[in-house]
Order: sequence, then C-alpha cells, then structure tokens
Amino acid sequence: MSLGRRICIKTEEEVELIRKSSLLVGRTLAEVAALITPGVTTLQLDAIAEEFIRDNGAEPGFKGYGGFPNTLCTSVNAAVVHGIPNNKPLNNGDIVSIDCGTLMNEFYGDSAYTFEVGEVDPEIQKLLKVTKECLTLSIEQAIVGKRIGDIGAACQKHAESFGYGVVRELVGHGLGRELHEAPEVPNYGRRGNGPRLVDGMVLAIEPMINLGKRDVRTDKDGWTIVTSDNLVSAHFEHDIVVRNGKAEILSSFLEIERVINKTKKIENK
Ligand code: MG
Ligand code: MG
Repeated sequence: MSLGRRICIKTEEEVELIRKSSLLVGRTLAEVAALITPGVTTLQLDAIAEEFIRDNGAEPGFKGYGGFPNTLCTSVNAAVVHGIPNNKPLNNGDIVSIDCGTLMNEFYGDSAYTFEVGEVDPEIQKLLKVTKECLTLSIEQAIVGKRIGDIGAACQKHAESFGYGVVRELVGHGLGRELHEAPEVPNYGRRGNGPRLVDGMVLAIEPMINLGKRDVRTDKDGWTIVTSDNLVSAHFEHDIVVRNGKAEILSSFLEIERVINKTKKIENK
C-alpha cells in the first residue's frame, strides 16, 4: 500500500461528509448482520450489502479498488482480511470478519466487524472481545499531541498481554477523498514515535489480531491474507477524527450490535 506522504487535515465540512459515509458503512454491516447464520454464503451477504449501499445513494468503496471484485471483504476463521465473497455456506462456530467501504459525496467510509456464526468457542469469543478492546484503547490514544506510535503501542500491549499475535503486514490509514491516505497507522509500535497527531486528522484504526502467531501469508487467490499457523484472526475497524482530549468516532457499531443482541435473544427463547 503506497499512501503518498502528505497528511491531509480535514475541514469540518469534510469531516461531516466522511461521517455520513462511515455511518452508511455501519448501517450496511447491520443489514448484513441480520442475515449471518449457519448456511448463508458470503456472496449472499455481499449482494445485500451492494444493493443497500446503492439504494442509499452511495457506491461500494472496495469494488474495483485495485481490482477487488466485490463490495465486502469477507474473511472467515484463519483469513485475516481481504477475503473474497464466495458460494461456501458459513458453518456453526465460524467467525467472519466483514470489512466494508462506501464512497458517498466523494468521501470514503471504511469500517469492519468480526461476527460469530451460531455458537462460537469461548476461546474465540475472547479473541473478539480483546480485539475490540484493542480498538477502544487505540482510539483513546488518537488525540492532539500524541503520536501515531502511541496508537499502535496501546494496541500491541493489550493484545500481547493475552499471548495474541499482532499482524504487522497490514495497517490502518488516513481516510478521506482516498480510501487509503497517509499516514499509515500500524497496530504495533513504540510510544512517542511517528507523526504527531493534530486536530482534524481522520484515521481508520483497524487492529488485526491473531489467536496464535502474528505471521500471515497471501492465499492462492492473490487477495486473502491468512494466518500462517491457520489459527483464527479478528478484525475491528472504526473511522475517527483526532481531537483535543478525546477522539470523535465517525463510524458506528450501534446498529450492528442492536441486530446481534436481538438475534441472540431470539435464539435463547
Ligand atoms: Mg476496512
Ligand atoms: Mg481500512
């Protein structure tokens, strides 16, 4: 990923447009969440997502990006990111990381969530919980006066305290008129290192955390990144804007989690 070197600071108007695009990603993932159950295929989820995005006056942000064929990246179990939707039904006990991008009013939104399919092993549930905590801890560092390295250091420390592997080869990024802008936002690093964070910097922060070792490889399909030890991996991503004291989260998991909790209640009845 080549991002160019200039970090583009957004105006308030631009931040609002990125927020709109990012919120549409959250609503799209909530539509998809309602369908995630053993037996559904990732290609079915992809079709729903594309239709929903277009119905809402936006374009899928990933389709055609670098030649990627679909609207969603759907990465099952040992797949970390960039999985291509296919016709294989999801199984009970799988996890699927779904990454979605939208392009709306010339600005991108980019957010990801890892979903449980049916009953998932408690060890894997814990990985999802900790990865989401890594995202929260990273966002807490995304404030004026800190540096990019502070974000990664917070993520890495938390993940490694559970013995998990932090993927090195893929990183978060700036976001705006381009899907991937400077700066790179690694999920590992050293405190006090890297570019200084300033008000109006918009970042996609996206920890990719492996249950086992950190090493990954690219699958035969040329896209899917999978763990080298074949153990599962989790991915959560928010778009944020750097502010004084507390970052503002532009994307949202609220609707996604409303759907997940509703589904769980029905299953438990
Ligand atoms: Mg993404
Ligand atoms: Mg991203």
